[in-house]
Amino acid sequence: MRYSLFNLARNALSCHRRWPRAWRAAAPRKSYDVVIVGGGGHGLATAYYLAKNHGIRNVAVLEKGPIGLGNTGRNTTVVRSNYMWDDSAHLYEHALKLWEGLSEELNFNTMFSQRGVLNLAFTRHELNEMERRASAMHLNGIDCELLTPAEVKRWVPLIDLNQDSRYPLLGGIVQRRGGNARHDAVAWGYARAASALGVDIIENCAVTGIRCEAGRVTAVETSLGEISAGRVGVVAAGHSGVVMGMAGVKLPVQSYPLQALVSEPVKPVFHTVLMAGLVHVYLSQSDKGELVIGAARDGYVSYAQRGSFNLIEEQLRALLELFPTFSRLRMMRQWAGIVDCTPDASPVIGKTPVDNLFVNCGWGTGGFKATPGSGWVFAHTLANGEPHALNKNFSLERFASGRLIDEAAAAGVAH
Ligand SMILES: Cc1cc2nc3c(=O)[nH]c(=O)nc-3n(C[C@H](O)[C@H](O)[C@H](O)COP(=O)(O)OP(=O)(O)OC[C@H]3O[C@@H](n4cnc5c(N)ncnc54)[C@H](O)[C@@H]3O)c2cc1C
Repeated sequence: MRYSLFNLARNALSCHRRWPRAWRAAAPRKSYDVVIVGGGGHGLATAYYLAKNHGIRNVAVLEKGPIGLGNTGRNTTVVRSNYMWDDSAHLYEHALKLWEGLSEELNFNTMFSQRGVLNLAFTRHELNEMERRASAMHLNGIDCELLTPAEVKRWVPLIDLNQDSRYPLLGGIVQRRGGNARHDAVAWGYARAASALGVDIIENCAVTGIRCEAGRVTAVETSLGEISAGRVGVVAAGHSGVVMGMAGVKLPVQSYPLQALVSEPVKPVFHTVLMAGLVHVYLSQSDKGELVIGAARDGYVSYAQRGSFNLIEEQLRALLELFPTFSRLRMMRQWAGIVDCTPDASPVIGKTPVDNLFVNCGWGTGGFKATPGSGWVFAHTLANGEPHALNKNFSLERFASGRLIDEAAAAGVAH
C-alpha cells in the first residue's frame, strides 16, 4: 500500500487530526451527464467505472445519508461465484475476478480474504443439487470441490457430525476462491477513487422526484434542489421500488428486512465461511474476532430496518445444532437491512420504459459479492445506452417474456 508506516505514525502522533478527506465534499452542480441515485457500493462502483473505463467524469452520486450505510454497511460480506446458471455464473465470476485485484486497483485495502466458502448438504436432494452445480461451475471454468463428511470435518474441525442428529451431514461443496471483504472499505475505496477522477459524491442529498418529459428523463428533484441529468441510474437497493415509482415505473420487487448478528469477539476459531441451507445458518469470523451470523429474511415486507425476534432465536438454534461448542458465546448486537427481492431472485440491470433512465436493483440477499461486477456492467450500460454482454439477460423485460434466471436455490440460506 502506498500509505506508509511513516504516515500512520505521523497521524497517530497528531491525534489523527491531519488525515486528509478521502473524497471531496461536493456541492451539487446544476447539471451532470450522469446522475446516480444511491451511494452504496454498487452506485459508487458504477461512478468509478464510468470515469475510469468510459472517460465520463461529469457524474454525481446522490446519497440521502452518508455513503455506505445502506446494505453495503449492513451485510455479512460473503463473496462467491458458485452459481449454477450461466448468466449468473459469468456475472458473479467477473465480479470475483475484480475482487481479486480490487485493493490494488483502488489503492485501498478492501481486506478481501479468500478463506473459502463451504456449503453443506444434509439431504440427498441437496447433495444432488450440489453435484449438478459443481458440474455447471466446472463447465464455466469456476473452481469448486465436492467434499465428503470426513473432508468437511477436516475443513471445519469444530463442526458436530453426530450421525444421530436430526440432519446427518452427507457432504459439501467448497469454493476456495470465495471469502469475505471489509464492506466499509469497499464503499470508501470506490468513493475515494471516483472522487479523484472528478466524480461528485454528494451526501445528505435525498432524491425526492424524477422529472420526465416526452418519455425521457430530464432531471431529478432533491432535498438540495433540482439537478438536470443526461442519464439517470437508480441504484437504491431496498428503496429501488420507491425511487423508480417517482418516474412512474413499477418494479417487480418486494422489500424485506434481512437480519444478521455478531457474537462477542473471541480468538480465531473459524477460518472459513460456512453455509448450511437446511439447518439454516451461515457464519464466518471477522478479523475483530466476532462470529458473523446470517439469518433468514423476515416473512413480511417492510421498510423498518430491524428484524423479527423469532428469526434471531431460530438462527441461534441452527448455530448450536452444528456447533454446540458456541453455546456459551454471548451475542453482542443484531441489525437488519432492507433488501429488494425479485420473483426469480436475480437482479435487474438495464433499461427502463423511460428513455435515459436505467435501473440496477433486485440483488436481494446477495448483492455485496457482485459490487465490482455490478458497477462495471452498469457503467457500460449507462455509457452506451445498451447493456453489456454480461447483463443483457438481466433485463426488466424478462418478467414479460418469461426468460427468468431462477436463482432461488443459490442463496446461502433459504431467503
Ligand atoms: C443482513 C444482510 C446480510 C447480507 N449479506 C450478504 C452477503 O453476505 N453477501 C452478499 O453478496 N450480499 C449480502 N447482502 C446483500 C447486500 O448487502 C446487497 O445486495 C448490496 O449491499 C446492495 O448494494 P447497494 O450498493 O445496491 O445497496 P445500498 O448499500 O443499500 O445502497 C443503496 C443506497 O441508496 C440510498 N438511497 C435510497 N433511496 C434514496 C433516495 N431517495 N435518494 C438518495 N439515496 C437513496 C440508500 O441510502 C443507500 O445508501 C446482505 C444484506 C443484508 C441486509
